[in-house]
Amino acid sequence: MSIQRNPTRSVRVGSISIGSKHPIAVQSMTATHTRNIDATVEQVNALAAAGADVVRIAVDSDQDAEALAEIRRQTTANLSVDLQENYRLATKVAPHVNKIRYNPGHLYHHEKTKSWQEKVTFLASVAREHDCALRVGVNCGSVDPDKKNKFDAHDTITPMIESASEHCQLLDELGFDRYVVSLKDSDPTKVVEINQRFAAVRPDVPLHLGVTEAGLPPDGIIKTRIAFEQLIGRGIGDTIRVSLTVPNSRKPDEIAAGREIIDDIYAGRLRSVVALNPKALNIISCPSCSRVENEEFVELAQKVKEMTRYAQDYAITIAVMGCRVNGPGETDEADLGLWCGPTRVNLKRGGEPLGAFTYEEILPRLKSELDQLISLRGS
Ligand code: SF4
Repeated sequence: MSIQRNPTRSVRVGSISIGSKHPIAVQSMTATHTRNIDATVEQVNALAAAGADVVRIAVDSDQDAEALAEIRRQTTANLSVDLQENYRLATKVAPHVNKIRYNPGHLYHHEKTKSWQEKVTFLASVAREHDCALRVGVNCGSVDPDKKNKFDAHDTITPMIESASEHCQLLDELGFDRYVVSLKDSDPTKVVEINQRFAAVRPDVPLHLGVTEAGLPPDGIIKTRIAFEQLIGRGIGDTIRVSLTVPNSRKPDEIAAGREIIDDIYAGRLRSVVALNPKALNIISCPSCSRVENEEFVELAQKVKEMTRYAQDYAITIAVMGCRVNGPGETDEADLGLWCGPTRVNLKRGGEPLGAFTYEEILPRLKSELDQLISLRGS
């Protein structure tokens, strides 16, 4: 299939470049604790061996930042760092990575008296000093609150586009053009719309595509494929990540899945007439990362999928998230949301918290909530 890529500019990330003049880059992210240097290096190298062009590592603390310096010494992979909330860690991590990802919606958590513009100016200057690219990573679960409040609560897409656009504008004004943008949602149809709308206003900005919390394979791969086929097939997207809920040893599967989807699209092997069925049960789960405090999370996501099979004909969304940091926000749109702590799993129904349950108690409780929802919808 001949695909006319959007004319995006080139953004160098270590030994590769992202943009329309280069092949679509495939990325992944480590799910080990960053402080566990041996395990993280092993995973970075496994991902690179599987063909990852860039590997992202989350850094939340000074200890993680120190570990990152050692990880850098032990790998030649192109590294990206995920700053999470603590944007000031940029100075500590930038010397060891090729790209810094920040989330506009997370810049509010620290130093609340400083404007986001001051913080982005700081990040751009750190990136410039250390030869790093930036990613403005907008995520449906953590949209800039000022942008969200400006629009109707049902419009989840416009605030994301506005947030990304204003960050691009500031970076442009700062003369920093080595950046890419991502606009991720767990709903592939929204991922398609958001990226199409953004690409229409900023066709020059390279886009990093992803369906966040796509879930377990094969469903997670199918959801991602649906979005990527419609975007990449139209020339939108310069780098991708397939986010899958898999055990650490299977993280390289994300790279294999990404490459297969790209190859299939270019070969015209399109399957995305599989429109998402709005009348079916939808299980979303995050790909896990260093914030997971109990590795039983992946097993729990699998058990939820098996246990809920009987409800597959109901339009109910269940979200299973790996941590207490992003879990509460990223389950907001779900009918039933779970997020995992070290010994307990939190449960909510719509916006209402139902409590925290042990890993043994959670499945029967979830089933009882699901049964109630089904009976409500059936009546
Ligand atoms: S929900 Fe938590 S554990 Fe899952 S990917 Fe996001 S930050 Fe990581």
